[in-house]
Amino acid sequence: MQDLNGKNAFITGGGSGIGLAMARALLAEGMNVVIADVDADALTKAQAALASSSNAQVLAVQLDVTNRAQFAEVADAVAETLGPVHVLCNNAGVYRGGTLDAVTYEDWDWVMGVNVGGVVNGIQTMLPRMRAEGTGHIVNTASMAGVVPSAGLGVYNTSKFAVVGLSEALRMDLEPHGIGVSVLCPGMVRTRILESERTRPEQFDPADAAAQQAAAAHSEIMHLAMGAGIEADEVAELVVQGIKENRLYLFPHPELKASAAGRMEALMGAFGEPNPERLAAQEAFMAALLETPQ
Ligand code: NAD
Repeated sequence: MQDLNGKNAFITGGGSGIGLAMARALLAEGMNVVIADVDADALTKAQAALASSSNAQVLAVQLDVTNRAQFAEVADAVAETLGPVHVLCNNAGVYRGGTLDAVTYEDWDWVMGVNVGGVVNGIQTMLPRMRAEGTGHIVNTASMAGVVPSAGLGVYNTSKFAVVGLSEALRMDLEPHGIGVSVLCPGMVRTRILESERTRPEQFDPADAAAQQAAAAHSEIMHLAMGAGIEADEVAELVVQGIKENRLYLFPHPELKASAAGRMEALMGAFGEPNPERLAAQEAFMAALLETPQ
């Protein structure tokens, strides 16, 4: 999407951090922006700050991205007020650390529900409406944790690996329909992500002593790492470029390339030598698949 001016963006998790920075950056491109967030207080403050810096429209809507019925209602209301959404940023996400022998089902359900379920719900709700327009772009916020795993981050890693895979597949599916897809994979960014517990619903009560201890230990490390984090506005600039140039992978931390390379090399090294006959058969199959109409 080359020209963003006058078009509409919908950003989940838009009340804080990276989502709010995306809103600022897209407003600066002349877009109208909807910020959707579960945190009503954050939304009120964010809307006031954004509206004072722009003449374009800024709508703030309370939305829990795990709530499908609410997502559909919000989408209808936005369509009525602003018209079609051209840029969808599935960005809302939460962090929970702790080794996989200590985390609880509640940890799993909360993190997967928001980080994966929220993206799925954004796509299921918005994509049919975007398809009708025949143009648009979707940005899914994953993480470097969706490319390289680390100890004590397994639940979050699982959720973000899912968002990377989903985005790669989505890009292939939407290419024929004129809708671009990017996946954003930042390292540490100075936001409120380490305070994610503030929006954790009661039904995912974290009251388990071992899980709490494991989470606290990981959070301590993350707070140290956060000191070297970059600003969200820098990430948002890359997102704007990514939308304009329809780039799949958005990596705001080039200094983390070596850690990704280490994992890729381990993967490549595990393959061994291909059998020439089976290789030819596989290539013929792939060529036939590409020629099959989808
Ligand atoms: P943040 O906590 O500042 O912002 C996240 C926003 O999401 C908050 O406003 C929060 O209220 C909202 N949110 C949480 N649960 C929600 C729900 N169920 N429905 C709707 N909104 C909900 O953190 P951030 O760093 O700006 O996080 C944005 C995205 O970036 C997340 O997906 C996060 O995983 C990802 N990320 C962050 C970093 C980092 O270092 N900050 C690194 C990589 C990826």
